[in-house]
Amino acid sequence: SVKPDSCTVSTTCPYCGVGCGVTAKVENNQLIAVSGDKQHPANRGKLCVKGSALHETTSHSGRLLEPQINGQPVSWDQAINKAAQGFNKVIEQYGPDSVAFYLSGQLLTEDYYVANKLMKGFIGSSNVDTNSRLCMSAAVTAHKRAFGADLVPGCYEDLELADLVILVGSNTAWTHPIVYQRIVAAKKKRPQMKIVVVDPRRTATCDIADLHLALKPGSDSYLFTGLLSYLADNNGLDTTYIANHIQGFNAALSAAQEATPNTSEVAKHCNLDPDDLQQFYNWFCNITKAVTLFSQGINQSATGADKGDAIINCHLASGKIGKPGATPFSITGQPNAMGGREVGGLANQIAAHIDFSEPGNSKLVETFWQAPNMSHKEGLKAVDMFNAVKDRKIRAIWIMGTNPVVSMPDSNLIQKALQQCELVVVSDCVEKTDTTMCADILFPATSWGEKNGTVTNSERTISRQKSFLMAPGKSRHDWQIICSMAQAMGFKNGFNFTDPAQIFTEHAALSGFKNEGKRLFNISALSTLSEQQYDHLEPVQWPAVSTTKSSPRLFTDGKFNTLSGKALMVTVRPTLPVNQASAEYPYILNTGRIRDQWHSMTRTAKAIKLLRHIEQPFIEISPSDADHLNIQTNALLEVSNALGHCVAKAKVTAEQQPGSVFMPIHWNNRYAAAARVGNLVPPIRGRVSGQPESKHAPVKINKL
Ligand code: SF4
Repeated sequence: SVKPDSCTVSTTCPYCGVGCGVTAKVENNQLIAVSGDKQHPANRGKLCVKGSALHETTSHSGRLLEPQINGQPVSWDQAINKAAQGFNKVIEQYGPDSVAFYLSGQLLTEDYYVANKLMKGFIGSSNVDTNSRLCMSAAVTAHKRAFGADLVPGCYEDLELADLVILVGSNTAWTHPIVYQRIVAAKKKRPQMKIVVVDPRRTATCDIADLHLALKPGSDSYLFTGLLSYLADNNGLDTTYIANHIQGFNAALSAAQEATPNTSEVAKHCNLDPDDLQQFYNWFCNITKAVTLFSQGINQSATGADKGDAIINCHLASGKIGKPGATPFSITGQPNAMGGREVGGLANQIAAHIDFSEPGNSKLVETFWQAPNMSHKEGLKAVDMFNAVKDRKIRAIWIMGTNPVVSMPDSNLIQKALQQCELVVVSDCVEKTDTTMCADILFPATSWGEKNGTVTNSERTISRQKSFLMAPGKSRHDWQIICSMAQAMGFKNGFNFTDPAQIFTEHAALSGFKNEGKRLFNISALSTLSEQQYDHLEPVQWPAVSTTKSSPRLFTDGKFNTLSGKALMVTVRPTLPVNQASAEYPYILNTGRIRDQWHSMTRTAKAIKLLRHIEQPFIEISPSDADHLNIQTNALLEVSNALGHCVAKAKVTAEQQPGSVFMPIHWNNRYAAAARVGNLVPPIRGRVSGQPESKHAPVKINKL
């Protein structure tokens, strides 16, 4: 419910996976100032530059304010009925697997829950996937294989307690700034704390590094199987922990020793200085309190799950898990990638951290939902989903709160696939995006500050995002739109929610349904919240045994979520990315975020101070490659491969290693059409995780 005209509200930042608490000051229905919420455990009163500019981003310019059919404004009834009839017609003719939902880590948990319930329980397909597939599905796979469930063991405090922090494939300073500031503050207090950054680029994160390992792009598995071999050779194993809590140790170690028997072998694979490598291995071997924080540099890879498990293996084998200051730690990109995982917003999960691995699982959820058309098998993951759209196997798709024409690999293909699809429905708060331009039907959705619900951050903290601004025009909340669609499609029961609190408590109840301690994700203590209690819910880390008692660390007793109760050390055989540089495409393109922009810039580009940080798209290139190509900074370059091409200005910098170039992901048709980098990324994805390889595209470069 919207608050009075003037008030102060505690809410949560809509950007990165740190999930900072924000205090919003509202006057006359305008957000006039924001500050960090001192009570929120993630940020304790601080905000980064993006978070602190939130009040400059809530104008209604560019907003989608009315439902539209083929570009013409219509009433909500007309839009919903047309979409519902379109979906029903396709389902009738081609079956439930001919339709799909593509969701977003920007949606709130309640939105995610009803969308997932509608598709998996009522339409009868599991074709529900999300842009979180592009962000952390490799880590999900790594967690499930190692721990038996998708569980993040540690918390932010562990980064402050550690004596060794290893940041792998993560420009934490720019992409998770408040977590980075917490590490900076901890190191200032205890300068003996060691920081190692593992990244092919020298990023801003390296400013606090004692050691930067600028490894060969994509060689991370070698680094960590090499570390496992080193631990075995240098008394770095915790043999008691292995005996009591680990399975698969011998196979994992012998594969590691076969691939990476010694440091000089690893140095060759990773193209690293052997002394630097020795230093890193020595620190990990001898420092008990170590946290390895890993992010998109690990995840956004066809072998990201193996890379994640190679890291986890080193923590398991040395007993550095489940203890203060000792954990592997996957940090998510988006504000609610975790919440989406919790409700089953991935095509290979059902709901409440229940997957399809056992036949009874979907039956359990079917019973709870009283679902008329329960899906009993996995659906299509993002890349395969859009391929099915292209191949006309999926004939109706509903995209909510995301812009796949910009963010998906091979984005030119995504655009073509949507343009020829029978029915494309898009819910968004922005009128003109690369994806809304492909829509037959547009639903105007509410945005941050107008929406009301929950999000879960990277350390499993569930926080409230609250509404304090009037919804503009005819916009509605995503969960309301989904419930209206469900009813218009003929599903009268199961979607009668009138408040997000009712959805949240149902989700919480499902997490405890016939659980009997089998699943660690259990927030059933929150299933009895009244609307008022939900409104005042304080941040709480799951598995929450009450509304006030958080669970900062998992596996403190050495018990994991597998049948045996032991963690599995996955056998990792390291490989390099399939697509390597060639004579035709001699450079490897890496992609990523910049400090002051978010995704496709629809919100952050409204704040002048954020735009000023970096105003134009760019291509980072090393001085030696620039010399070779006779390129100076600001020269206009074309970057291309068989999939497409991009144009941007050169930034010649020694931060980039020879043979590699870097482009940011943010620019698109709205701001700089020629710099839409997704059209260069090949749709190669992990066999199990489905996560695309977004950081390793061979390209050529021409000076224009
Ligand atoms: Fe928002 Fe992330 Fe910045 Fe925190 S660190 S204020 S969650 S963008």
